Amino acid sequence: MNGDSVPVGADGFRHPSSEAELIALVKAAARDGRQLRVRGSAHSPSHAIYTDPVGDEANQVEQQAPPPGPNYNVMLDRYRGWEVRDEARKLVEAQAGIHLGADPSDPTGTATLETSLLYRLFKDMGWTLSSLGGISHQTVSGFTATGSAGGSVIHSVNDNLWGFRIIDAAGEVHEFTRDDAEPDLFGAMAPNMGLLGVVSTITVECVDTFNIVGQEAVTTTDGCAVDLFGPGSAERPSLEQFMRDTEYCRVEWWPQRGVDRVLVWQAARVAPEPGFTPHPYEEFTNRPELAEVFISLLYTIVGNLSDLSHARPQLELTFARVESLLDLEPWVRKLDRIGEGLVRFLDHAAEFGLEAAIKVLEPFAQVMGREIPTIFPKLLGTFISLDSDKDGDQKGQPQRFQDYGWSGLPMDNGADDQLVPTEFSELWVPLRRAQEVMTILHTYFTEPEDDHEAYRRTGLYAWELYAAKPTSNWMAASHTGGEDEWSEGALRIDPYWFQANPGDPAEVFYPGVWTLMRDHQIPFRLHWGKFQPVIQAPDRDWVDFLKAQYPRWDDFLALRAQHDPDGVFLTRYWRDRFGLWDA
Ligand SMILES: Cc1cc2nc3c(=O)[nH]c(=O)nc-3n(C[C@H](O)[C@H](O)[C@H](O)COP(=O)(O)OP(=O)(O)OC[C@H]3O[C@@H](n4cnc5c(N)ncnc54)[C@H](O)[C@@H]3O)c2cc1C
Repeated sequence: MNGDSVPVGADGFRHPSSEAELIALVKAAARDGRQLRVRGSAHSPSHAIYTDPVGDEANQVEQQAPPPGPNYNVMLDRYRGWEVRDEARKLVEAQAGIHLGADPSDPTGTATLETSLLYRLFKDMGWTLSSLGGISHQTVSGFTATGSAGGSVIHSVNDNLWGFRIIDAAGEVHEFTRDDAEPDLFGAMAPNMGLLGVVSTITVECVDTFNIVGQEAVTTTDGCAVDLFGPGSAERPSLEQFMRDTEYCRVEWWPQRGVDRVLVWQAARVAPEPGFTPHPYEEFTNRPELAEVFISLLYTIVGNLSDLSHARPQLELTFARVESLLDLEPWVRKLDRIGEGLVRFLDHAAEFGLEAAIKVLEPFAQVMGREIPTIFPKLLGTFISLDSDKDGDQKGQPQRFQDYGWSGLPMDNGADDQLVPTEFSELWVPLRRAQEVMTILHTYFTEPEDDHEAYRRTGLYAWELYAAKPTSNWMAASHTGGEDEWSEGALRIDPYWFQANPGDPAEVFYPGVWTLMRDHQIPFRLHWGKFQPVIQAPDRDWVDFLKAQYPRWDDFLALRAQHDPDGVFLTRYWRDRFGLWDA
């Protein structure tokens, strides 16, 4: 078999259906001096996934098409099977293309719930994985390649990983398991960034299925049950203590001046019982379908006030999702003076189309831009209301939910990737530094006298705080050697970025927080599947900073060079990350 037996499809991808076809593709790419990369569900920034861009394509999450050109980009939609390898040990071998859950953005439309690993494990075996991220749209190999993790210091999917089959650049298959005489190499696999070869299969050691019960409270920082910035007390745990004690949790913090909202989502495992009825968590409690459209509309406008023409593509997409634009008016009217302008905008859009509506909004945009610090708290209040503002017997009550673990832990699955397209950068710091880091952030956000400067620092979106269990995996952002300050786990700080905003967040927004932490000498690592600093040869500043955070950095690069001496899998983005300009 040769690589030509798996031709490139109209979508720009090659779609192998077996390990033999994957091997043939790798050999063909190596023979022809081409790069080869595999995509999972494309939830990472695109430069981390695909072969080198040919022009200056934007680095964006969920970019579905690979760059044009002769390189090999592979999609594994035809390589998604799974089988039980050892029932007693609950060992399941999954082909690399299987998705954890359904992927609503899957371009082939075939990554359904029914074909997904978690659903099949639950239905067919009564098994599951120990922890999951905020979504389960990812493929098993994409999740692992980036060292992704759920929000828990107690449980981790790393504990489920048992073995890998990986194809190196010569087309040789290597098989590693946790039980090997030399288990060390196994530790290089999660994350591997696609740099050690093509992952063909991943074997997981499952656990029995479990249910979760939980709640989400929406409060101010003072009213929050967690002491976000202080040392905590007997009645109110510090953030560090809360994360240590809670099986699964995540905090969404809106630190914008005048806003002061904290959403604390937490859940615990319970044993499955006959007759269990799920009451799933609801992300946007008040008419979810309209709330997302409303948020999308506001964010798109507010993020693009300096050039509303840039907002057009996202606005088109948003308007296409609502039956009548006039349905949005009751929401918009709550916004007083700004509301009036937005009502005129919506009326014009409904009657004369988007172009005319943008014209109506343009003069108004300048005023909105000036008044952001006054109007943003009001805007936010319309879609995130405090529990204390709820009506009737719900007043002061958090939202309570119960669900199957596999469907309830990914609490953001309900968020619409198209309406609220979100990008991230995620700093992982030793958990024991939580109070120090939260104080640094709090000061950074509150110290400016100028409101606009305060807003420049916070941005207009939430800052997610969650945790991860320590692991010996070499390049994991929660790696610990056992005796170091990472040994109790990591706090993760994840500022969100609305994708329809202008500019590359790695240039216009994230450097603020990266530099802040460096200036305060906080050791931190960055999620491999989220935005990282823009690095250009020969500037090793960020390379050396990050290298210093990973004791096994050089071991990983040595293994990479062994598996891929000619750089078949090594794209410009990854060369830059590791400073491998001479490789
Ligand atoms: C809305 C959203 C929510 C998220 N929530 C979380 C979260 O809660 N926790 C968290 O840790 N992360 C989270 N992430 C990050 C996400 O888990 C990672 O980006 C992950 O890599 C996505 O998996 P994927 O299947 O989309 O892989 P992709 O993004 O497509 O690929 C990731 C990497 O894996 C490589 N790769 C994929 N398959 C193979 C293979 N078979 N062989 C070799 N290389 C391969 C790709 O080339 C790429 O380098 C989130 C991202 C988004 C957009």
